[in-house]
Amino acid sequence: MTLTKNMGEGGCSPAPHCRNVLAGHLRFATIYFVLHFQTLGCSMVPSKLSFLLSVFLLALPAFAQQQTAPKPKPRVIVVGVNGMELDIIRPLLLKGQMPNLSSVIERGAYGKLRTVSAPNCPRVYSTIFTSTHPEENGVTGFIVGGITANTNMLKEEPVWSMLSKGGITVGMANVPATFPVLPVNGYMISGMLTRGKNCEDGVLCAPKLSEVMGGDAVYPKSMQPELLKNVGDFYIDCESMPAAGDLKGHETELIDKWLGKVQLIREQQTKLFDYLLTAHPTEFTFLAQSCEDRVGHWLYPISPFNVGYNPSLNNVRLDAFPNQYIAFDKVLGSILKHVDENTYLVIFSDHGIKPLREFEEKDPHAHMDHEKTTPVIAKHDFADGDDVPGSFFAMGPGIKHDLRLMGLAASVYDVAPTLLHLYGIERPKQMRGRVLTEIFESPDNRVAVKK
Ligand SMILES: [Zn+2]
Repeated sequence: MTLTKNMGEGGCSPAPHCRNVLAGHLRFATIYFVLHFQTLGCSMVPSKLSFLLSVFLLALPAFAQQQTAPKPKPRVIVVGVNGMELDIIRPLLLKGQMPNLSSVIERGAYGKLRTVSAPNCPRVYSTIFTSTHPEENGVTGFIVGGITANTNMLKEEPVWSMLSKGGITVGMANVPATFPVLPVNGYMISGMLTRGKNCEDGVLCAPKLSEVMGGDAVYPKSMQPELLKNVGDFYIDCESMPAAGDLKGHETELIDKWLGKVQLIREQQTKLFDYLLTAHPTEFTFLAQSCEDRVGHWLYPISPFNVGYNPSLNNVRLDAFPNQYIAFDKVLGSILKHVDENTYLVIFSDHGIKPLREFEEKDPHAHMDHEKTTPVIAKHDFADGDDVPGSFFAMGPGIKHDLRLMGLAASVYDVAPTLLHLYGIERPKQMRGRVLTEIFESPDNRVAVKK
């Protein structure tokens, strides 16, 4: 909820590539970044630096040859669900309305995921990417230093870069706060906070693939026409919510229209994920959804005793928010078709969402959404992140079955070290999280070391 209409100088236009690379990525320069330079023909790169990078590039094959024959690498699919709220999901599981998530729970480990203070999407996702504090990794919220959070701000190395360096193929789609996309050993399609047509003021918006500024939504660029041909011109992020003024007197009509758009976006995403998992299988695949969170903000099935309750709005579609998770379960079913017994599946949410509470009354923005235009009855950026924990589900070779993680012992900081562990990559020193050893039958059990 830290977005403002006022973006200040610089707006939200993507920075030039050359600056992107120089400013943000040299600290974790890899062959992919070097290739990126060359593709773009960045004339800004100082010649000495260019030479050093070339030497690095030339040295890599020799280095690679010294390595022994590659071990089989695990296949891992990660699914991020923005703002997934376990308290809404639990009754749906009991009623059998989320059969796919139920099957994951039976075959794996799950529980709440402790999140950061004042959690919101870019803030938590960047913490998950790097296992460092938001203040350390540079992405502290929707707006940082007056401009929309973007990947140029990342000061710590993200997990996908470490995996790419480790020779693991990486595929990512619609993950929040990955715009402009960064080069990886595979592909990346950006997600929430992508800037495009009608996004000039920096608020959340729903650009289509063809409307993204500078074509920075897809790496490699050559993949964009392929996606347009085979998947269509899909929406990259979820639709923003209608404003209070527009809603007045037209609540039912506008809510239904908006929910229809949300479902269209979800269907496009399902098609995209299925296409990528079929046509571009990678060893590490990271997919994310964002619509659930926004539905929760203003259509949380709230009781008349809660703050912000407005019957003309909050009584219209009491099933809207639970329905998001029933719809998510169908997306999960489509992803599960690509999961065999040797594949790890990790599902997580960055935070939950809860009705407004007593101390929110003093906050003038408490009752408005991300764009500050829609009245909300639930939110997540409470100072105490423990009020709105995320959730974590994992299954795969060597992961315990039907294990419930009690309390808040697992945190968003632990996701990246645990993913690295699956590939036998040691947790780098700067990472604050730990490997979630309790979910494994044996602490060093992973496909990489399978006999
Ligand atoms: Zn939200």
